Amino acid sequence: MSRAIDAEGLTHRFGDGETAKPVLLDLTLSVEAGEIVLLTGPSGSGKTTLLTLVGGLRAVQDGRCTVLGTELAGATEAERVALRRRIGFIFQHHNLLGFLSARQNVAMALEVDPSLSEQERLDRADLALDAVGLSDKREAYPSTLSGGQRQRVAIARALVHEPGIVLADEPTAALDGRTGGEAMRLLRRLAKDRGRTILLVTHDPRILDIADRVVAMEDGRIVETARA
Ligand code: ADP
Ligand code: MG
Repeated sequence: MSRAIDAEGLTHRFGDGETAKPVLLDLTLSVEAGEIVLLTGPSGSGKTTLLTLVGGLRAVQDGRCTVLGTELAGATEAERVALRRRIGFIFQHHNLLGFLSARQNVAMALEVDPSLSEQERLDRADLALDAVGLSDKREAYPSTLSGGQRQRVAIARALVHEPGIVLADEPTAALDGRTGGEAMRLLRRLAKDRGRTILLVTHDPRILDIADRVVAMEDGRIVETARA
């Protein structure tokens, strides 16, 4: 199997000089294409920092990190932007725009593809909403949806452009246990249907069962890895 994510010797610091403390320390992690990996670990251990590096949201300082075939060490901003378009992001707070309907929020993720007309984008958004069970909520605004429905819209938005990788940062933190579990099982099913790779940060023990592998971080390093 080919590797979707291949990070080796990643070290990252915030701040300069004497006060700079390493947040990631010589971290090595690989994720195979099609694999679902959950990343756990105490608050402050560097999980979000790792996700932002893998997602091309921040420049690599030290070490190397290849994502979907793009080497991020030394990559230009333009290369990182191009990579970001091939990634689906899901955040703790769904980050939907309140003044757009569910279908408009999802369709927005397709604006990176200039070859699509607006009608094509809206049609594909509708299909993505169908896939997450929200066919009847296309026109709904986020404020009228439940927390679980909003997170399902966010899942549709993360998948609609057929990303090579989905990166999720504590996607169930704002949901109750049952709702969060249902949303993540849905994400797993949709990802497995299409062979998509997922790297998902979570504190939520109730969703560990969606993983192919669980990786634990501590103080900027991977400390444990277990096959599910
Ligand atoms: P986690 O997601 O595991 O909670 P983070 O990656 O968010 O950990 O943070 C790791 C450490 O880096 C923490 O000590 C945090 O305070 C620090 N940190 C995160 N982002 C920044 C930033 N932009 N500037 C300075 N320090 C940061
Ligand atoms: Mg975090």
